[in-house]
Amino acid sequence: MGDITFYIYHDLMDLLKSYFRGLHDKKTISGFDAKNMEKYNIITDNLFAILKEEGYWGFVKGEKSVHLWVDKEKRSFKDVLIYLVSHEIGHTIKPFYKRVGDEEMKATRHEEFVELAYKVTEKIMSI
Ligand SMILES: [Zn+2]
Repeated sequence: MGDITFYIYHDLMDLLKSYFRGLHDKKTISGFDAKNMEKYNIITDNLFAILKEEGYWGFVKGEKSVHLWVDKEKRSFKDVLIYLVSHEIGHTIKPFYKRVGDEEMKATRHEEFVELAYKVTEKIMSI
């Protein structure tokens, strides 16, 4: 697990350009919404606005390359740990599913483990 490489972006547009090749040429792009478990087609400007509002986003390239962007004004340490970093690390764990929905479910389960670990740790530390 230690061989994962993390790329932290300061600029959301740089992250998007890294994910969607030729982004600047396209008016619409398609992707997969992990939260609602559905595919989407979206106008590039709208996606940018949505993610900017969301305050974080990430993706995994290949098997062991995790790319992350966070707006620290918008997201807490806990949000970033559980819903971004843990989710994306979940995508680096085998098996890798071909169906996007299955792959997202795996990453979401990984979030749930870390969320539980976080809650238990919080409880222990407050006693
Ligand atoms: Zn995901």
